[in-house]
Amino acid sequence: MPSFASLSFGGNKKIYAAIIASLLILAMLVPSLREKYSEPVKAERESYKLGTVVRLTVYGSDEKKLDSALTDAMNEIDRLEGLFSVNIPSSEISKVNSSKSGRVKVGRECADITSFSLRQAKMTNGAFDPTIEPIVKLWGIGTDSPRVPSSDEIKNALKYVDYKKISVKDGFIIKGEGQKLDMGAAAKGWIADRLAEMLKKRGIKSAIIDLGGNLSVIGESPKKRPWKLGLQHPAKPRGEYFAIVEASDTSVVTSGPYERNFTKDGHLYHHIFDTKTGYPAESDLASVTVISQNSALADTLCTGLFAMGLEKASELVLSEGVSAVFVSKDYKNIYITKDISSALSLKDDTMKLHIIGESKN
Ligand code: ADP
Ligand code: MG
Repeated sequence: MPSFASLSFGGNKKIYAAIIASLLILAMLVPSLREKYSEPVKAERESYKLGTVVRLTVYGSDEKKLDSALTDAMNEIDRLEGLFSVNIPSSEISKVNSSKSGRVKVGRECADITSFSLRQAKMTNGAFDPTIEPIVKLWGIGTDSPRVPSSDEIKNALKYVDYKKISVKDGFIIKGEGQKLDMGAAAKGWIADRLAEMLKKRGIKSAIIDLGGNLSVIGESPKKRPWKLGLQHPAKPRGEYFAIVEASDTSVVTSGPYERNFTKDGHLYHHIFDTKTGYPAESDLASVTVISQNSALADTLCTGLFAMGLEKASELVLSEGVSAVFVSKDYKNIYITKDISSALSLKDDTMKLHIIGESKN
């Protein structure tokens, strides 16, 4: 027969077990309750990288985790810049460019960004072309010594600009004689995608990746609402927006001649080239914004669409189902794809809004 003492001990055991279980549940709940009901912690870091100002902002509940995620993300930018930059002699792209053999073994990431860029070149029918390097080098726009080259120099450099002569196979980049790559219009978007993947893997659910205006957002804003993303007015100082787009988990990338240029004899020469003429593209647009979950696609496309001009760019965004915003050269008209009309609010009342494919005026 069980004694009273052992009976009462058995009863206490159950109570202790219940208390311990409740404490454990509480301990598990506290962080998620804190995350749900209190203001999230914000961590931010800014640095000069990729030839521009890079700013990463992450939100969460654990300051230490956010901080180490930022450190790793900044290091990742440096690592990828070290692979793709034409200005770093030891980069894989520089290795490809200086190779005479026409067949260069590269790492997986360099092979990936190159084949992606070649697909984008095909999509834009060569308006975006990663083999533009000889033309970019000739003009030197964005360097200390930009200049207007002679027409012979341009003609000679143009011989090497043709994405169709490049291919990627079994980890090798195979290129035509004298061809060189420039990832200037692709790398920021491609790197933004890698950073978003990396931060999400670490459990970050709310973040802004700003690589010099190449914006990507993870999840929703800390207020649990879509992010409000400003579209830069092409003729106004940085931070002055002509429209706001509300969106989550997306990327917003803009290209325009206002970003990098120089003036000579009253003429403005900018950094987005017409791959057929070798001169800065004479576009009837002042800027192109592409909104896509794929930042590499947005980055490469907005450069190509800008060079194509309103008519061809409109056809392409409609046929590819891409979300875009075009500003006319005189800043008076903006053209948007219909799918973003409810997410976009126009802030500049001197601009007239048109839906691409619906109005011709
Ligand atoms: P940014 O890098 O200033 O945001 P873009 O994404 O439009 O602007 O990229 C412009 C850069 O891409 C140029 O500085 C040059 O290196 C390269 N580039 C210029 N014209 C072209 C083109 N037609 N196709 C591909 N790359 C280009
Ligand atoms: Mg671009």
